[in-house]
Amino acid sequence: MAAAHLARRDPAPGEAGPACPDALWCAQDRVVEEFAMNQPIPPYLFAFAAGDIGFRDVGPRTRVYAEGGTAMLDAAAREFAGTEEMIRVGEALFGPYEWERFDLLVLPPSFPYGGMENPRMVFLTPTVIKGDASGAQVVAHELAHSWTGNLITNKTNEDFWLNEGFTTYAERRIVEMVQGEERAALNTGIGWRGLNEEMERFKDNMEFTKLKPKLAGIDPDDVYSQVPYEKGFQFLWRIERQIGRPAFDEFLKKYISTFKFQSIDTETFLEFLKANVPGIENQIDLKLWVEGTGIPPDAMEPVSTIYTKIVSLAKDFNAGRMPREDEVADWHGQEWELYLENVPKAVEASQVAALDARYRLAESRDWEVKVAFLQLAISSGCKEYFGEVEKTLKQVGRMKYLRPLYTALVQGTGRDEEKMLAKRIFAEAHDGYHPIAQGVVESILSKHS
Ligand SMILES: [Zn+2]
Repeated sequence: MAAAHLARRDPAPGEAGPACPDALWCAQDRVVEEFAMNQPIPPYLFAFAAGDIGFRDVGPRTRVYAEGGTAMLDAAAREFAGTEEMIRVGEALFGPYEWERFDLLVLPPSFPYGGMENPRMVFLTPTVIKGDASGAQVVAHELAHSWTGNLITNKTNEDFWLNEGFTTYAERRIVEMVQGEERAALNTGIGWRGLNEEMERFKDNMEFTKLKPKLAGIDPDDVYSQVPYEKGFQFLWRIERQIGRPAFDEFLKKYISTFKFQSIDTETFLEFLKANVPGIENQIDLKLWVEGTGIPPDAMEPVSTIYTKIVSLAKDFNAGRMPREDEVADWHGQEWELYLENVPKAVEASQVAALDARYRLAESRDWEVKVAFLQLAISSGCKEYFGEVEKTLKQVGRMKYLRPLYTALVQGTGRDEEKMLAKRIFAEAHDGYHPIAQGVVESILSKHS
């Protein structure tokens, strides 16, 4: 139960309205459900869900809700069994959990995001249920929003990094406590790579590489990127390195308790930072970080043994060497994802097929792995995977998967077959996508038509 349910009652006089022609909405036996939401929230965090929804309790303040019956609920309950532990870790790091409930709602596959941090009840894509508890990282992110980016929200979309940069930082601190430093560093490594790719994507429009970009007249969905997440994370990590973790943790707690249940802008944050960390503006070029384009020189690529190993194995692939079984024995989806993303974009088609023959990546139950592989298959011209690409694009509507697959299909020159395939699949899959996802795919297709 998200907002507290107060009552189910008959309509009071005046609430039921006169008879109207739509029987669905004007049925005689209409009831009124009353809810109370005691914590103040900005309107973008208001959401409601309706459906044939069942639930399982997975912790003292967490219930998992889902459609799809027992099997789906069992899988979701297993995947999210560690939620209470994460909430406690979050409380130790950032202060009390202020929202009472932390429920999780698993949505249908057309949900365009990984998760949405609606307070008291987070909405999640079903693609995070992988059977290996790695979906916990998405939950860690949405949970982290309970302190950063729900408790303190951004005043305008230009300050979006205040939500997502802080939340990415908080997410990695929770992951570090629950899953260990190596996993957190790997997570940071994937983020670092994503940030660098955004610099390439926006190389002709560097405004959107700023932490605080100018967005007048621009639909934020059109320029949605990893920049507020990863550059924001890098900025906070830079401050942490400057003043040390204990001092930064104290600062964070004070920041959260000072501004909780308020919406603030970047300038307010900077004033608070300078007031509480005297002299910080002489040690870090705050103006460059906030108003500058690109990645500041004092940003840092994470040091992670797994990360380094994976990147070097990916380089070997180009030279014709596939990773051995013993080298990938303890890889999860994230390791494969990073590996595949680091393999050069156009390798020999036969090499790609050989990799899949050995490790069955196209059939992976992990969507991150499957999509990263299919992206490589498309850019390497492996037409035998187009059937799997089509199936995938018709099964999910999460933009994290639609964007790279459609982009891979339409990019490059002299590839009319792929472009036509992309258009046909989109025409057929269109109605199953969320309107925001439809818009994103349309803009990808029109850019390369
Ligand atoms: Zn977020």
